[in-house]
Amino acid sequence: MERADEFRQICKANHWKCTPQRLAVYNYMHNNTCHPSVDDVWNFARQSISSITRESVYRILNEFSDAGILYRMDKIESAHYDSQTMPHGHLVCEKCGKVKDFCFTELPPLPAGIPQESILHIELRLAWICPACEKSK
Ligand SMILES: [Zn+2]
Ligand SMILES: [Zn+2]
Repeated sequence: MERADEFRQICKANHWKCTPQRLAVYNYMHNNTCHPSVDDVWNFARQSISSITRESVYRILNEFSDAGILYRMDKIESAHYDSQTMPHGHLVCEKCGKVKDFCFTELPPLPAGIPQESILHIELRLAWICPACEKSK
């Protein structure tokens, strides 16, 4: 499916207007594995829509997260957004805050008495010092 059609379908399913603002955010986040912050997305969107405010980018990102298109990674310092909503792991650099994906093939065992269906999101987060920061120490 074309990305534009995909976007229109998502808007329809969520009763959103297909605005250029939403499209710009969608385009930037589509298959984006860099875990951008609000400002990253805003800086991109401003290139095509000079009038777009940081607040509307923030609102759209949260709209997308609420709809399950993105995952909002809280408590990293400021919110970052992930285009991969499947279970996966994150290496988070304690120094520069950069986030790197990694795959795991098996889920860790759930604590006893917790039904699988009650789990809303699975993320394994490992804190580390990335090679670039390690070098600049
Ligand atoms: Zn780092
Ligand atoms: Zn990720």
